[in-house]
Formats: sequence, structure tokens, C-alpha cells
Amino acid sequence: MASTTVFTIANQKGGVGKTTTAVNLAAGLADLKIPTLLIDLDPQANATSGLGFEKEEGRSVYPVLMGEGSIEEMVIETGRKHLHLLPSEVDLAAAEIELAQKEDYLLQLKAALAPLFDSGDYRAVIIDCPPALGMLSMNSLAAADHLLVALQCEYLALEGLGQILSVVDRLRDAGVNDHLDVGGIIMTMFDVRTNLSREVVEEVRANLPEKIFDTVIPRTIRLSEAPSFGQTIFEYDKMNPGTTAYRNLAKEIAKRFGLKK
Ligand code: ATP
Ligand code: MG
Repeated sequence: MASTTVFTIANQKGGVGKTTTAVNLAAGLADLKIPTLLIDLDPQANATSGLGFEKEEGRSVYPVLMGEGSIEEMVIETGRKHLHLLPSEVDLAAAEIELAQKEDYLLQLKAALAPLFDSGDYRAVIIDCPPALGMLSMNSLAAADHLLVALQCEYLALEGLGQILSVVDRLRDAGVNDHLDVGGIIMTMFDVRTNLSREVVEEVRANLPEKIFDTVIPRTIRLSEAPSFGQTIFEYDKMNPGTTAYRNLAKEIAKRFGLKK
């Protein structure tokens, strides 16, 4: 049986396409018949609502982090084949403070999620993080095999990248997660009408040629509309360039990490 590969989409910067990528990449992997679990680790719960689910008090990883309840009971079958969701709700915000008071505070999430990772039910896990390198994001990095960085095609994109990459090095050097690596960089919100987008992609490609994914996610209004209908881009608009892009990204990731049997 193939093991579970855990990806976290973490980045200190807000509004760069983390959640859009987490939801649609997870849906894209599920479309490839890869059993996938999407974990919403952001108290804003945008991934939860993006898949069409209401926030539900007491239903997130939070109670399990606090030693209550079982993680399996928190998971939602999304009604989509091969795609399950561990939702979030606002209580999870308290974890930022409460985790900091625990011993081994960086390894709490990994312990809470272990039954899901070890169950054999999932080939891929995608974790959507809040826009800060706080306790939740750091715990996700400690629990993950690969960091995926969503990088918006904008001026100074590389500067923000440096910070998250150095966090990966520090966690590895400190022995918190000795096999964590940067799985890849996903360029988001590419605007075909501007030279800037093209220049930014070229700059990142020149600096990190083996990390950047070939697939670039275009800026398209349909990707921003889909979550308000609780739909993935595959459900909302089958023909959109954003749909093609997330399908290609899922294929590229399945290939790079050997997710297909
Ligand atoms: P946060 O840091 O708040 O969690 P985020 O990094 O998860 O934000 P998203 O929520 O995915 O970012 O995207 C921010 C906004 O940009 C949202 O309104 C989203 O719908 C929109 N958006 C994301 N990707 C695209 C895209 N490729 N084209 C157009 N709009 C997009
Ligand atoms: Mg988000």
C-alpha cells in the first residue's frame, strides 16, 4: 500500500491564492482518482466554505489538539469522489495561543492528525494554512512532507519567498522535521496582459528552476466566483483557463511526487 504524502500550502503573505490552490488542487487530485484529504487549518475557514460547507462549532482539528474527541469524527465526506475535508471554524484561532503553552508545541498537529495519515485512506493530504507563520503554520510544516508555496505574480515576489524558505531550513536543521522540503512553487494570478507577470515568472524560474512548476495559474474572475457558490472550479466552469491550469497542476504534482499507483 502506498503511503500518505502530506503537502502544506503555507506562506506568511495574505491573499496570494493559497486557499484557491488548496481547494482546486485537492479537487484536481481527486479527479485523477487519488484519494485526497483537504485540511482547513485557517480559522477563517475559507476552504471549508469554498467546498460548500457551513462552519460548525466544535468541528475542526481544534478539539483534538486540546485532547478531546477523535480526529476521524471531524472529517466530512464532501459528496465528491475521492475527496474528504477536515473543516475549520473560528475556535481554531485559539490554537495559536494554546499550542504555544504546550511541550513539544511544534509537533502537536502531527500527533493529532496521525490516525488520518496512518489510516491508509488517503494518498494525498493538502493543508491550507492561515496567512502568518504562527503556531498553526509551523505545526503544519512539522507535519508535512512537502511545502508548496503559492506565489502571486507581482513585484518583489522573490523577497517574500526568502522568508518561508529559511523557515524550512530552520525546521530541518533543528530536527523538528528532518525530511521537510520545498515541494514546489506555484505561480498564481498570472495576468496575460502585463509584462510584469511574465517577468516575475522568469525571475523565479531563473532563481529556482527545479522548484517552480511548469503550470502557471492565470488570473480569472471565475476562480474568484466559484467559492461563493461552494464549488470548485471543476464544478463551476469546466471550460475556463483556470480549470485547465488546476487540472494540469494536479497532473504535474501527481507525477512529481509519484501519487498515482
Ligand atoms: P488568505 O491569506 O486570506 O488566506 P489566500 O492566500 O488563501 O488568502 P485566496 O483566498 O486563495 O488567497 O485568494 C485571495 C483572493 O484572490 C480571493 O478573493 C480569491 O478568490 C482571489 N483569487 C485567487 N486566485 C485567483 C486567480 N487565479 N484569479 C482571480 N482571482 C483569484
Ligand atoms: Mg486562505
